[in-house]
Amino acid sequence: MTKKQKTQFINLDNAREEEQKLVMKDVAEAEHCPFCRENLCKYHKQPILKETKFWIVTKNQWPYKHTKHHFLLIYKVHAVSLSDLSPTAGQELFELITEIEQSFKIKGGGLAMRFGDTDYSAGTINHLHVQLIEPDLDSPDFVPVRIKIGGEKTKA
Ligand SMILES: [Zn+2]
Repeated sequence: MTKKQKTQFINLDNAREEEQKLVMKDVAEAEHCPFCRENLCKYHKQPILKETKFWIVTKNQWPYKHTKHHFLLIYKVHAVSLSDLSPTAGQELFELITEIEQSFKIKGGGLAMRFGDTDYSAGTINHLHVQLIEPDLDSPDFVPVRIKIGGEKTKA
């Protein structure tokens, strides 16, 4: 009954929120990458906070629960593997995350960059991006924020 919903660009099996699933269905039908610059604004409704040579800094449209901040740093070239990243982009990334840490007075949190085959990464969008998360320890019923790596095995 559950057919795998994975394309070259997205993996619907890894989508979390209902609205996200609906948007990703449109993406699947359009057969293009929602994080590539020319398509990003069609689906991503959060403001772009900064754009540099290699990265777009924005907020996650569907932030994880119990996060105070959930930033996305999207690589500007369509890339899937870590080996597609330019070393100079790495330097720029570290400059940007330092800036975010300071501007938003982030006390602590985590960085995650999933990569490659979405069955392994559990990512929804198969285009390299970095997540910067500060948990919201004051949110009611706080539970620790967890980032999943590795998709659920589909039952035969
Ligand atoms: Zn892309």
